[in-house]
Amino acid sequence: MITDTSAIAAGATIAALQVQSLLDPLDNRILLCHALGLSRVGLITQSELALDQDQAARFAALVRRRLDGEPIAYIVGQREFFGLPFEVNGAVLIPRPDTELLVELALERLPPRGRVLDMGTGSGAIAVALAHTRRDAEVTALDVSADALAVARRNAAANQARVAFLQSDWYAALDGAPPFDVIVSNPPYIASGDRHLSEGDLRYEPAGALTDHADGLSALRIIIAGAAQRLKPRGWLLMEHGYDQSAAVRQLLTEQGYTDVQSWTDLAGIERVTGARTH
Ligand code: GLN
Repeated sequence: MITDTSAIAAGATIAALQVQSLLDPLDNRILLCHALGLSRVGLITQSELALDQDQAARFAALVRRRLDGEPIAYIVGQREFFGLPFEVNGAVLIPRPDTELLVELALERLPPRGRVLDMGTGSGAIAVALAHTRRDAEVTALDVSADALAVARRNAAANQARVAFLQSDWYAALDGAPPFDVIVSNPPYIASGDRHLSEGDLRYEPAGALTDHADGLSALRIIIAGAAQRLKPRGWLLMEHGYDQSAAVRQLLTEQGYTDVQSWTDLAGIERVTGARTH
């Protein structure tokens, strides 16, 4: 494979730059679209267009960032989740397709005009997907990071989703809020020292969104310990967790007196979400 971006020069056509790609073909197409301001269809219909000097320089710079390891979503500043576009930057985790399971499970359990809380909202992906799908819902989303909340607020506005945002260290600033029908969270659950933290896209994502700097379960413990008193009777707590944490999370829920404790599998068949109800 060529790793020299000097091959990306004025005069090269869109078609040629896809044949001699320095990157994974999909990544390459996304960056080409971004550099040229074209849609995917535009790349096809204008495949014989030759890049001018500015366009070539812009595309080469994007390819260089990707070759250096930066995630595609941060380079283009966007990622799709639940069929909606989300702005992302280094202050927030990049939404994962597996997290759509958490949204679907919450939607199935949210009563008409129900109240739902998203803890550690990051880009706002979960809260905005819920509010966009269920206009009748009262969605509250919190995060400890002001930078993340700024991104989440823009995502809610851009997707015309009505979400009440709150800066809060887990439940700390939530006192006095009426009880919720559903609490959801995709908290930091990677144990400190896990090798994944120093590999691939995760190197660029905010550490505080990925790891609890402990055994991986500390944020889940805090959420589980505090949810029961903030949920209505028979309310649901639903949490995403790591590939090997489902049994531990079920045990924590059972110990804390929840009922209907169960786990659901993600697109890869791995137990990825665990939830339970209050009495
Ligand atoms: N699912 C993410 C990963 O393993 C981690 C997200 C999180 O910690 N909430 O890449």
